[in-house]
Amino acid sequence: MLKLITGILFLTLIAYGANPLAGNRRRLIDSNERADALNISQISDENISYFKRHDLVVKIPDKTASFYLDPGHVLKQFRYARPWTVAYLIELASEYYAQFNKPLRVTSALRTVQHQRRLMRRNRNASPAKGSWASLHVRGISIDISHKNMSRKQKSWMRKRLTSDMQTGLIDAIEETRGSACFHIVVFPEDRLPE
Ligand SMILES: [Zn+2]
Repeated sequence: MLKLITGILFLTLIAYGANPLAGNRRRLIDSNERADALNISQISDENISYFKRHDLVVKIPDKTASFYLDPGHVLKQFRYARPWTVAYLIELASEYYAQFNKPLRVTSALRTVQHQRRLMRRNRNASPAKGSWASLHVRGISIDISHKNMSRKQKSWMRKRLTSDMQTGLIDAIEETRGSACFHIVVFPEDRLPE
């Protein structure tokens, strides 16, 4: 009997781990704890200009050969992210482009706490702006890449690539299918940020 229960438990675990890109609240909490430990603070309407002025967040190019910021989704003042997040996007997009000769469409980057609150009022699936499972976009370390118009092959390439980067601990990624239809990617820095 015990053997059977252990077996079922193991199978459940395998099934559970079958989709490493499935999102849940536990993962949001883990990512927030990790971001706290790395000293990555939240960004608000009040301090966003300080972050920009000191290059704590950097401008994402509007359009390159390998990716573009969807102007219908990303407001001008939010076309920024932490430097290592932008570096990751550039690398990921250039590899994707080398494979498929198509640019990635970025639909979200930095959000302020206030902007996240506005999103939450409009979208039931949006994460809160504050608290233990807050959206990582408000720390400037997240980007969303739309998979709405990706082929099955393109999606599977992305899944493989993101899963392998998750295994090295570099990123956390979720494939969102409800509402925004995107790969939500959180990129962590190698070292803790200075106080
Ligand atoms: Zn996102």
